[in-house]
Amino acid sequence: MLQALQASKDFLSLTLDHPFNIDQAFSYHLTNNTLVEVWDTGVIVFTPKVANGKDVILSCAVHGNETAPIELCNDLIGQILNESIEVKQRVMFLIGNPAAIHNGTRFVDENLNRLFSGAHSEGEGLTNPERVRAKKLESYVDRFFESGNQHDHRIHYDLHTAIRGSKHEKFAIYPFRPGRKYSSEQIMFLASCGIETVLFHHEPTTTFSYYSSEKFHADAFTIELGKVMPMGQNDMTRFIAMKDMLIRLVSNQPLELPEFDESRLNLYQVCRAINKGFEDFEFTFANDVENFTAFPRGYILAKEGGNEIKVEQPIEAIVFPNAKVPVGQRTVLMLKPASTENIA
Ligand code: ZN
Repeated sequence: MLQALQASKDFLSLTLDHPFNIDQAFSYHLTNNTLVEVWDTGVIVFTPKVANGKDVILSCAVHGNETAPIELCNDLIGQILNESIEVKQRVMFLIGNPAAIHNGTRFVDENLNRLFSGAHSEGEGLTNPERVRAKKLESYVDRFFESGNQHDHRIHYDLHTAIRGSKHEKFAIYPFRPGRKYSSEQIMFLASCGIETVLFHHEPTTTFSYYSSEKFHADAFTIELGKVMPMGQNDMTRFIAMKDMLIRLVSNQPLELPEFDESRLNLYQVCRAINKGFEDFEFTFANDVENFTAFPRGYILAKEGGNEIKVEQPIEAIVFPNAKVPVGQRTVLMLKPASTENIA
């Protein structure tokens, strides 16, 4: 495997050749002295000879059919391996669910991004490959952050694409962080990446970014980069700003972030999640309604079990509507405009 990676510099194809695990971990040094370690399938860590105080995790393919972030990450990995980028920070890339990439689907048995913070071992336990993978991914995050300096700035960007169209093409979800202010610097980093819309989440969840945020106080985000497209059909020119900023970040070049500027941003507060209570749950709006479409107070959003679910705030916008989830799971997140008082 070592020789295959050194020859091809294509970590994605190596990962797809071994969708569940590799025979054994391996490592080598690049000629610029960067240590390359492959801990497991889809798990590659770069350690420069001298690190500069940031520990950066970039994850993709937590949903297997969200291909643009996979192509973006594999391109960055390839450039690090061929030494056209030299990392000056510790960096770990994670390709979340290789089996689902093979399948061309969001997941095989269960939504991986609902299985973190221990959810993988609850209920029926480690009964499917996604549950097993979630537990392993947690252990790699633990090992990566714990083997850095404890005062390092910990960062985790979990990269996704959305199922449906969106009024704001790219957006980030800022996990719930009780007792900690939101970071204006991180928000402006995202804006410089072309991500000018941020949702502040309102409660603990079992997503990957919440795991890093809660357990390691990382600046962690779920980042949505546009609409799902088949592999190879993504317009990668839409990610030029993002790629440029990620290269600056990992190679410790000046980020040149602008001052916090609310007028450039769309900031939303999640006001509630609507969970599915009955099998017959259905939305009243059309299937192709875009994320961030807003509805007025009293508007009937959905019906289930003979009840109507209405908009409660003066205006609420929707994001991630999906009626086809199991009973008990979230069908949609409802948003209201956010205040900036918790941003520092
Ligand atoms: Zn996703």
